[in-house]
Amino acid sequence: MTGVEGSTDGGTVSGMDTATARAWLHLVAEDVHARRDHLTELDRAIGDGDHGVNLDRGFTAAEDKLAQASPQTPGAVLGLTGRTLISTVGGASGPLFGTLFREAGKRFGEETTTSGEAVATGLRAGLDGVQRLGKAENGDKTMVDAWAPALDALEAALAGGASLPESAKRAAEAAEQGLRDTVPMQARKGRASYLGPRSVGHEDPGAASSVLVLSALARVLTGAGPA
Ligand code: ADP
Ligand code: MG
Repeated sequence: MTGVEGSTDGGTVSGMDTATARAWLHLVAEDVHARRDHLTELDRAIGDGDHGVNLDRGFTAAEDKLAQASPQTPGAVLGLTGRTLISTVGGASGPLFGTLFREAGKRFGEETTTSGEAVATGLRAGLDGVQRLGKAENGDKTMVDAWAPALDALEAALAGGASLPESAKRAAEAAEQGLRDTVPMQARKGRASYLGPRSVGHEDPGAASSVLVLSALARVLTGAGPA
């Protein structure tokens, strides 16, 4: 990947530039591919067993589109990713993740470097879009249960003066906790809700993939590289 090395400096970057956005999506695509079977296993327990395959298809297609179009701002990187997920992923998660990236990209605007605060504002706009579309609240056992605590943590850390990389790290940790918290929940949205009480006792697949997305962001910003 070109430009990735120069885009992080060991935890003191205060924003996200285009190369960092590209590196983030690249890492997400790699991680989703590596964890495809695990995500699909989770979805087999409380859904129809296609979540890993769905997202792998979507993020692979996004990688291709990004390589072809070479968008020049972080907003354009996220926007193209979002539109590609919406158009290539069947199932609930494509439109939902797609909306998250598309709305975040829109909010990022035309800046070539998105500040930490703007990253948080953009991702929050993305989550708002997910909730407008899917109508899920905290506790419904969906991806919202990873994103909502993660963005709360991101905003709180930035407001407390933490750097963007450190704040993203805390966001990823909060997402992991959010994922664990989905285990005892009964699903109230999506396919898993059809199972009623039998959805209890499993991680939510979309919350698990959201952890991958958020921990990839933390790793790219801190320069930690692949897990
Ligand atoms: P499908 O359920 O159509 O097979 P996927 O398996 O790809 O789609 O994705 C399932 C994930 O989508 C769930 O684990 C959940 O996190 C997320 N999801 C489903 N419905 C909603 C919703 N209404 N709001 C937010 N997330 C949802
Ligand atoms: Mg499914």
